[in-house]
Amino acid sequence: MPAAERVAGRRVYDESILDRLAAISLAKRAGFTLAETRLLLAGGRARRLARKAGELDARIAELTARKQSLARLAACGCKSLLACGRIADATLSAR
Ligand SMILES: [Zn+2]
Repeated sequence: MPAAERVAGRRVYDESILDRLAAISLAKRAGFTLAETRLLLAGGRARRLARKAGELDARIAELTARKQSLARLAACGCKSLLACGRIADATLSAR
């Protein structure tokens, strides 16, 4: 990124740089690594976005399964987690 011009002591950025920073921030929040973000900004956007959306779907499914396992364990009346007969079920379904 080029150094910002200073006007009255304040940095003044070119609008295209602000757009670039906004795009980088958005990509980061969507889970893109810096290397992926670099490629994303270089081109091939549709394919990379679709791939990341697929990765997020897989993570959502995994986290949903984990949450359901916790809910099953929480709903169980066992005194201790180690004594819970649902541990095996919860462990298997979380994979
Ligand atoms: Zn139990």
